[in-house]
Amino acid sequence: MEVDTAAAAAAGVPSRAERKALEKAKIVQRENERNAFKMRGPGKGVSSVKAVTGNEWFRQVARIMKKAEGARTAEESRALLRHRDAVEELRRRQVRSAVLKRKQEEVCDDSEVLRTKVAQLAEAVKQAQHLVVYTGAGISTAASIPDYRGPNGVWTQLQKGQAVCSSDLGKAEPTVTHMCIKMLHKENLVKHVVSQNCDGLHLRSGLPRHALSELHGNMFIEVCTSCTPAREYVRMFDVTERTSLHRHGTGRRCSHCAGDLRDTIVHFGERGTLEQPLNWRGASEAAERADVILCLGSSLKVLKKYACLWCMNRPAKRRPKLYIVNLQWTPKDDLATLKINGKCDDVMNLLMEDLDIQVPLYNKAEDPIFSLATPLRLEEEHSHSRSLIAPPAGQEDCSPDTQGLATDEPVQGGWFGRGYSKGRKKKKAP
Ligand SMILES: [Zn+2]
Repeated sequence: MEVDTAAAAAAGVPSRAERKALEKAKIVQRENERNAFKMRGPGKGVSSVKAVTGNEWFRQVARIMKKAEGARTAEESRALLRHRDAVEELRRRQVRSAVLKRKQEEVCDDSEVLRTKVAQLAEAVKQAQHLVVYTGAGISTAASIPDYRGPNGVWTQLQKGQAVCSSDLGKAEPTVTHMCIKMLHKENLVKHVVSQNCDGLHLRSGLPRHALSELHGNMFIEVCTSCTPAREYVRMFDVTERTSLHRHGTGRRCSHCAGDLRDTIVHFGERGTLEQPLNWRGASEAAERADVILCLGSSLKVLKKYACLWCMNRPAKRRPKLYIVNLQWTPKDDLATLKINGKCDDVMNLLMEDLDIQVPLYNKAEDPIFSLATPLRLEEEHSHSRSLIAPPAGQEDCSPDTQGLATDEPVQGGWFGRGYSKGRKKKKAP
């Protein structure tokens, strides 16, 4: 974000390029150390543990270390003493992998702890002057949308080289958490919602658009950027089936200027420039005014990079208080006033109870998408194969007739498929 770069430069924070160079230097140094270590070989006196070279003697030390201290022979214990540097390197590795493992684990507070923590959160919500909510994939898992970095998340699966499949995303509906957030906004307790989800569920919960920043786009919205201002087309189906990293054309055209329509998704490595639905202005203004930030179901690994969301240019004491609800570790945990290890829906149910506000149920007949949507023109009816959001009972006949096209095949393309698996390259600004 340009806002970030300017703010970062002003605050004397190293630029992205500088940070990358530093990281790379560290990796190269570690690699060199490791190689030098292998080259040095077993050193003096190892003959008693069988003469070996390179990796193998390193493995021998590792093998000895795996044994309980009492189970080691005198000879093995002496070998460990002789190869202190190997022992230390192995210990460092053990610590590193233990930390990594712990960060990926999902932790749940027991019900007593959860209640106490939520009571604290409720107090903060009541006291807050300007509460802003940040949401991630964890709030949509109950709507059968895959989360991102959880054990079965999209990112985790792609890292393991597994294909990502999911039931049809158009069938997902706003969760308890979405509905609670909408209600808290209605009660004027939440001022703004910043989401990294593309599933459009905040919008469908009835949260007004001016109170929402969908930083990574909305899978139901395609836009014409040839029109000024950009013209939006809300659809009742996932518009991203043909799009991916750096390929945003949806294949349909603007009904006003015939320009190519594009999706609004921001893939990894891309810079989101669309004013809507990203609404960066709304997000940064909200963060600027926030005294409390509530993060729900996000690993924060991506959000943390958007410096303007965290007021990092201020001294720590004057930054907004952070409340984090997530099952896994997040990089902001140490800075948080309170970390709640729980499922978002559970926490929100308890929170609403404490605030004495009824949890509203999602009612399809009130889903704004049906009034926002632009029907496809006759010649466009076969321009997609994704299923339509089923209209509420009794209104079946008001939708364009493409229902028959819907298939139940696994969804592989679009905003959570190809694009995410590829994107590491950063697109240079022209
Ligand atoms: Zn146009």
